[in-house]
Amino acid sequence: KAVAHWFRWDLRLADNTGLYRAAESAKSHGLPLICLYIFSHQDFEAHCTSPARIDFCLRTLQVLKDDLAKLDIPLWVEEVTDRKRMQSHIIDWCDKWGVNELHANMLYEVDELRRDAKLVREGVKKDLSFTVHHDTCVVEPMVLRSGAGKTYSVFTPFFKSWEPYLYRNKCVQDLFPPPGKNDPKYNTEETFKELFSQAAFPTPNAGKQLEQKVAQRLKKLWPAGEHEARSRLRRFLEERVSKYVDTRNRPDNDSGTSGLSVHFAAGTLSARQAVRACMDHNKAKTLDSGHHGWIREICFRDFYKQILAANPHVCMNKAYHEEYHNVTWEYNEEHFQRWVEGKTGYPIVDAAMRQLATNKYMHNRCRMIVASFLCKDLLLDWRKGENYFMSQLIDGDFASNNAGWQFCSSSGTDAQPYFRIFNPLTQSEKFDPDGEYIRRWIPELSKLEGKAIHDPAGRLSPAEFKKLGYPEPIVEHKAARERALERYKTGLGKN
Ligand code: FAD
Repeated sequence: KAVAHWFRWDLRLADNTGLYRAAESAKSHGLPLICLYIFSHQDFEAHCTSPARIDFCLRTLQVLKDDLAKLDIPLWVEEVTDRKRMQSHIIDWCDKWGVNELHANMLYEVDELRRDAKLVREGVKKDLSFTVHHDTCVVEPMVLRSGAGKTYSVFTPFFKSWEPYLYRNKCVQDLFPPPGKNDPKYNTEETFKELFSQAAFPTPNAGKQLEQKVAQRLKKLWPAGEHEARSRLRRFLEERVSKYVDTRNRPDNDSGTSGLSVHFAAGTLSARQAVRACMDHNKAKTLDSGHHGWIREICFRDFYKQILAANPHVCMNKAYHEEYHNVTWEYNEEHFQRWVEGKTGYPIVDAAMRQLATNKYMHNRCRMIVASFLCKDLLLDWRKGENYFMSQLIDGDFASNNAGWQFCSSSGTDAQPYFRIFNPLTQSEKFDPDGEYIRRWIPELSKLEGKAIHDPAGRLSPAEFKKLGYPEPIVEHKAARERALERYKTGLGKN
């Protein structure tokens, strides 16, 4: 017999609830511990998982496999072609290796919950117990309730309840140690020779879509694995967190935020580890604004996971506020392509879209600007933007991405009201005042000085503008704004 942990988006040894529970059980029953990672290309496709994210995951699996091997724990990586056969595949795998106890950490998306529930049911018939643990949030979803007993739908009251809960329940006091420290050997190579001997991982097709050159660049930009996650966190705390509140909204500052979202999304760092490290780093008795501000952002991640858990309809292409289904969108493919390619004629939008295409990451302020531009200025369906983001982002996370898009389209929880429409020119002047960010991403504009960088079509003479080789704005913001207001009003029956 054996106990197994099934890794999903929790690719770390430290502070991993499911892995810790599996190791505990193996120890107490004197059984070996083995690990599994299983993927389906169909799953990646269905969820628009980006090649960059898959590649990051594969690089992390290599780190994980090496670390586990040092503890004599094998990690088996397996591909299933038909995603519907995932459960039976896992049951067969468990059967083959004598696993009668399987652990994993919970994923809150509907597809994944259904798959897990099916595995529990099918497993019982085969004498396999499958336990999923809450792990990804600092505070488990659905625990925090308003006075009326409801789950929160607005961030600020959620945060006001989350923060004291954290202290009261000592959520980040005792983190789970990785297996191995002071443990007896879990296996010998002899027992699980075949499991240990897997030479190379199967490569998911989507990962192959990354050209070698791009993959090399991303590897440098986003080194994988939990050791890297912890050292990035350490550097951020040492060097930058105290200034976070002042720097977090500035895309021209490459190190104004932590850059840790890729690690939270892959699970190479737990949100508990991050909050704990941030609290420990703050030497004074109360948190200063930088430390407090950063922990508040991590709370946003918890908030959106609980929104997903409490409102499964957001997983089904539906707006959180269903009346927003009545907004009539434009289906202008050319506008969408110009947005994707960073050729809208709005420099801040184009710089951000080019950053996304190249680095597979975009600054939070710019995510809001380009999302607002798509839903309001172009009046394109926010779900097109949501899917495109997932297909590109290395830190793609369904809950945060969906909530971010719904916020910007005004259909989500805690939404900005539909009549608040970002002006891309004033956003640009405010958050990239010297145009550094724009200059970095749009070589056509690199020589422009002063305010022209934000609005070249409006501020240069036609002849000067033509020389740049940069496109004219595809819509005029003022008119686009009026059109959006009208369309939203009609859709919501406010006319
Ligand atoms: P920091 O400022 O250092 O923040 C620390 C951590 O807090 C982040 O890593 C993240 O886990 C969390 N966080 C910060 N802001 C938010 C937020 N607004 N919502 C949820 N969590 C937050 N984040 C993702 O992780 N994956 C996504 O797919 C994603 N898509 C988004 C789409 C849109 C339209 C918008 C507006 C936001 C989206 N975000 C997403 C949230 C946010 O933009 C990123 O988390 C942030 O830019 C990551 O950079 P960082 O790690 O340097 O953040």
